[in-house]
Amino acid sequence: MFSYRHAFHAGSHADILKHLTMIHLAEYLQEKPGALTIVDTHAGAGIYSLIDGFAAVSKEADSGIFRLIKFADECQSSGKGVGESIQNYLDYVRAENSEEQITIYPGSPFILARLLRPQDRLKLFELHPKEIDILRHNVHQLKQAKQIDVYAEDSFARLKGLLPPPSRRGLVLIDPSYEDKQDYRYLETAMEEALQRFATGCYAIWYPILSRRESASLPDRLKKIAANHKRSWLHTELRVENAPGERRLQASGMFVINPPWTLEKNLVEALPTLVKALGQGSGAEYLLKSFEAKP
Ligand code: SAM
Repeated sequence: MFSYRHAFHAGSHADILKHLTMIHLAEYLQEKPGALTIVDTHAGAGIYSLIDGFAAVSKEADSGIFRLIKFADECQSSGKGVGESIQNYLDYVRAENSEEQITIYPGSPFILARLLRPQDRLKLFELHPKEIDILRHNVHQLKQAKQIDVYAEDSFARLKGLLPPPSRRGLVLIDPSYEDKQDYRYLETAMEEALQRFATGCYAIWYPILSRRESASLPDRLKKIAANHKRSWLHTELRVENAPGERRLQASGMFVINPPWTLEKNLVEALPTLVKALGQGSGAEYLLKSFEAKP
């Protein structure tokens, strides 16, 4: 426990899928003026250097954000775009960087902080004893700091206590490290409890695609939970390579409960481009499925 540091994975293909989806969900929910509460149950350190520290050791950003930026620049110079949602996501990344160079990658807390309107609140959970100090320090620098609460608590246990939010408009990003295989079980329990208290909330769950049984069966178990509560869902996966035996993460997924109708359209546009930009070899592919619950 507590060996996971997100800086090793900052700007990876998994971060790209997760953050692109998360931005779309938050911006959609902000189309109405009512206050939005966003809960990031697994926050990490908030923002990461890509040129020193853990990220410079792992170099995961090389096959992630750096590759995507290069692809976007090439598209632009040949007069084509990368599409609105990828462009929008890249704008959030670029906003933390100088015009000349990308050296910083914003984690979910910084991306979410940047899109807060004055009426919105952001609640961040982090348990790692070092990450929580870095997160608090980083959040303190933000001009939106007064709208952000940081909790050094177990979010799986605490989530239900925050639901429903006072305005009954909420987005919950659930992004565990799955370092402890019990996380799969805790996640399911937390989702059951969350839907009992706040059935209409929008829940976005990230997961790694690994050979481990708990990971392979997670989407089906989440579909069952959504069905028990008569909720719609969207399930997407992005695989950037298929190299059996290699230990690096090659694919990840997002499972969204109560997705806005616009999300599928957005991902239909973005996913083929992400496969083209980030794919390594013929094993690169995406999956996109959804189910609309009848009221
Ligand atoms: N959401 C972040 C982002 O996209 O930038 C990355 C988060 S990282 C995948 C998961 C984080 O959750 C780690 O920093 C870990 O220490 C923290 N964590 C693990 N279990 C937790 C728990 N039960 N409650 C809150 N945080 C937890």
